[in-house]
Amino acid sequence: MKLDEIRVTNPYLALPELCYTRVKPTPLAKPYLIHANAEVARLLCLDEEELESERFVDFVNGALELGGGDPFAMCYAGHQFGFYVPRLGDGRAINIGTVGKYHMQLKGAGLTRYSRDGDGRAVLRSSIREYLMSEAMHHLGIPTTRALALIGSQQQVIREQWEKGAIVLRVSPSWVRFGTFEYFAHHKKHFELEALAEYVIAESYPHLADKEDRYRVLFGEVVHRTALLMAKWQAVGFNHGVMNTDNMSIAGLTIDYGPYAFLDDYDFNYICNHTDRNGRYSFGNQPNIGAWNLRALMHAFESLASSQRMEEILDGYGKIYTDHYLELMTLKLGLESFEAEDTELLRHLLGMMQGLGVDYTSFFRTLSEYDGSREALLALGLYHKPMHDWLDSYDRRLERNSSSHRERSAKMKQVNPKYVLKNYMLQEAIDASQIGDFSLVKALFVIAQKPFDEHPQFQRWAGATADILKNKKLSCSS
Ligand code: AMP
Ligand code: MG
Repeated sequence: MKLDEIRVTNPYLALPELCYTRVKPTPLAKPYLIHANAEVARLLCLDEEELESERFVDFVNGALELGGGDPFAMCYAGHQFGFYVPRLGDGRAINIGTVGKYHMQLKGAGLTRYSRDGDGRAVLRSSIREYLMSEAMHHLGIPTTRALALIGSQQQVIREQWEKGAIVLRVSPSWVRFGTFEYFAHHKKHFELEALAEYVIAESYPHLADKEDRYRVLFGEVVHRTALLMAKWQAVGFNHGVMNTDNMSIAGLTIDYGPYAFLDDYDFNYICNHTDRNGRYSFGNQPNIGAWNLRALMHAFESLASSQRMEEILDGYGKIYTDHYLELMTLKLGLESFEAEDTELLRHLLGMMQGLGVDYTSFFRTLSEYDGSREALLALGLYHKPMHDWLDSYDRRLERNSSSHRERSAKMKQVNPKYVLKNYMLQEAIDASQIGDFSLVKALFVIAQKPFDEHPQFQRWAGATADILKNKKLSCSS
């Protein structure tokens, strides 16, 4: 369809008025398209040719409203770094309509009622990061929001210094957060809370629609999806960085990309967000924080379901997480099935990687080609003995695999990406973009969509991160 043929709906506006505020986007000055995502356009039934048009830039800039549009910002609260903040809300995201099951949102399109001290804007660097990374996560098989397009502008925005404003048009099957429930629970707005629970069931858990005690079951399913999401993050080596409850999706998606990072060297204690001094949101602590956040959600659900039953559900979180994590790691290791003693093999491996400082992504990709010859793997660590010791155990374990080396290798390469978007790569693309060269954004987008392919032209981005490029930390400022 053409842009002017699309008619959007606004199902969230059926909720009580406390849940949102209507607001028109404030377009940026002199906008231009940086990139558009043809796959997401298809999800929205939008013709690919439309992505080239000037009207499309106007649309992403919030200057062209689609038929049926009635833009609004959502109200929510949340626990930030462990402390309850009673009113957050979409401070710089404006919902511009729903097509099918996808809700569109402009991030950086100006002030809303929830902007507090912020300017309602997003800068180019953080917009590039969100645009590319959400696409990469999707193609790594991790539930996430996505994005239709990224535009830049000539409009100045102040952060630590003057920067250029940008907008990402993001899409998601749900934008409801744990903090959305917390807001209404905190204000004892039971009517709104129940309406929100019904909305979330219809939106993300439709199979629960007619179930008795469905709010308790809903809580159980959120626990389940969150545990699975945490397992996927840990297995792929993703550190979100700001797991506040307002950044936790009720539908179990990765949302709100900020100072995130993929691990360079495996480091359980890695902290990607340099404002997180105590490592609350460190890589290794993510599954615990998932549980902490679910407990905050449980409190918000107290008027909807039995606390005792929810406690029991929460007790099951650890097992759901561990089972899925082990399932994913079994695949990454190329083992045909999980055996109890494999936990020891895995513990040994992670300890060895932590001690040697082995690049996480490269290790598994290189292991995918392991045929008994150890040079490539040994080259990933400073000392050889610990790697030899682990490979001795791995060799013994592989003897119980029935598939050939070639079959194992092919399977492993489907689960162990050759490329992940490490911070240094994103920074290269950002640096070039700041002077008007978006070719690296395009290149990284290609990698994001096919992370398991060889892409010989991008070989320099495969392999271990060079020492001076490792562990680039980012702040929340975006
Ligand atoms: P985040 O840490 O990005 O999830 O943001 C936390 C809260 O601050 C959310 O309610 C955001 O909408 C809001 N926020 C962040 N940056 C801005 C900004 N530049 N202008 C207005 N609100 C913002
Ligand atoms: Mg947020």
